[in-house]
Amino acid sequence: VTVSIGTDKTVLAVLRHLVEHGPLSRPDLGSGAGFARATTSAIVNDLMRSGLVAEIAAPRPAGTRGARGRPVTLLDLDDTRYAVTGLEIGADRVLAAVYSLRGRELLRIERPADVEAVNPRALLRRAATVLHEALDVVSEDSRRLLGVGVSVAGLVDASSGTIKYAPSLGWRDVALQAGVTEALGDRAPVLIDNNANFAALAERRQRLRDGVDAGSLVYLTGTYGISAGIVTAGRLWRGERSLAGEVGHLILEADGRKCVCGRRGCFETRAGLSAIVADALGGAAGRGRSRRDPATLTAGLNEIVSLAQAGDAGVVEALAEAGRWIGRGAALVCSILDPRVVVLGGDYARLAPWLLAPAREAFQDSLLMPETETQQLEVSVLGPWAPAEGAALAVLLSIVDGDRELPA
Ligand SMILES: [Zn+2]
Repeated sequence: VTVSIGTDKTVLAVLRHLVEHGPLSRPDLGSGAGFARATTSAIVNDLMRSGLVAEIAAPRPAGTRGARGRPVTLLDLDDTRYAVTGLEIGADRVLAAVYSLRGRELLRIERPADVEAVNPRALLRRAATVLHEALDVVSEDSRRLLGVGVSVAGLVDASSGTIKYAPSLGWRDVALQAGVTEALGDRAPVLIDNNANFAALAERRQRLRDGVDAGSLVYLTGTYGISAGIVTAGRLWRGERSLAGEVGHLILEADGRKCVCGRRGCFETRAGLSAIVADALGGAAGRGRSRRDPATLTAGLNEIVSLAQAGDAGVVEALAEAGRWIGRGAALVCSILDPRVVVLGGDYARLAPWLLAPAREAFQDSLLMPETETQQLEVSVLGPWAPAEGAALAVLLSIVDGDRELPA
C-alpha cells in the first residue's frame, strides 16, 4: 500500500522529524514535530502502512519505571523496504553506495576512472555502469529505490541539474542530471549537487543520530580545491546563484602565491590538496631529488602519508604549516557564518594526525572571540564516503521536504 505523502505538510513534518531525530517514542515524536497526540498517531499509522516508518524495540533506559528488562517500543524509519543511492564522480574514481533509510550502508562499489576524466561522455558511461551494477543489487534485494543523488566537486546548479564548472574534471556547462537520467533509462529519479553540500548533510545527520547538536555546520572539502557545504537551521544554504561556499578563493595573503583563478593569496594556494602535496614533497627529507613528481594527487597523497608516518621531519612540518592555514581559513569562515562546528572533510581527514592540532591552534588564534567551547573544528566522522552518503540522504530529504513525491 502506498500512501500519498507528497502534498500533506503535516505528514512530511512528522517524517522529517524522524529522519533527523529518530528513533523516538510516539509522544516524543508528536511533541517534537509539534502536533497533538491523535494527529501524530494517525500519521504514524499511515507511514507504517507505506513502509517508511517501523516500530523498533529498544532497551528501557536505566532509572525509568517499568518492568525491568522489558523493552520500550520506539519509532524509526523502516530500514527494510526502501533504498537510496549515492554516486560520486571524481577525477580519479567513480563510486556508488546504497543505503537504507536510516543510513545503513548496504553496498558500495568503487572503480578507478582516471582515463575517462577528460571526457564527460566517457566518464558518464563509466558512472552509469557502476550505477547499474549497484541498482541490480537493490532489485535483487526487492527494495524499492527512492532515487539516486549524484555528487561532483565544483560549481553545481542543483535546480537546473547542470555543472557550471568543475575544475578537477575540467568540465564546464555539463548537463549532468539529464545525462545520468538518460543513462539510467528511467530506473530511478536523479538529483545532483556538489560534494561539499552533500557531505555537509551527511555529517549533520550522523551527529544528530549520535546525539550531538549540529544545528549549523560548515563542511570543508579537502580535495583538489576547497569548498564549503553550509547547513544552517537544518537546511543547505546555496546562495542566490548556487555559488555559496566557494571559500577556496578567499584571499588569505596579500601578494601570496599565484592561484589558478588568476589572483594571488587564495586559501587554496596554501591549503588545497595540490598545494599540500607539492609543499610536503618539496620539504621531504626522505625523498631523493631525482624522483619524479607523482602522477596523480592520490599518488602524491599516499606518498606524503607514508613519509609522515615514517616521521619525515620536512613532511611533518609542511603538513603542520598547511594545518595552520586551514585553521586561519576556517576562522575566516566562522567570522562570517558563526556555525556550531566546522568539519574538515575529504582528504583532510586522512591527514588529520598531522594537520588537526596546528589547525586548531591557528583557528583559536584567529578568532575574534576564541576559547569558546561551543565552536569547534572537527574531523569528518564519515571520511571519504560523506559525499556519497549525503547524496543518498538528499534523495530522502527531497521527499520529506515535499520537493518530490514518493515514487509509486
Ligand atoms: Zn583563487
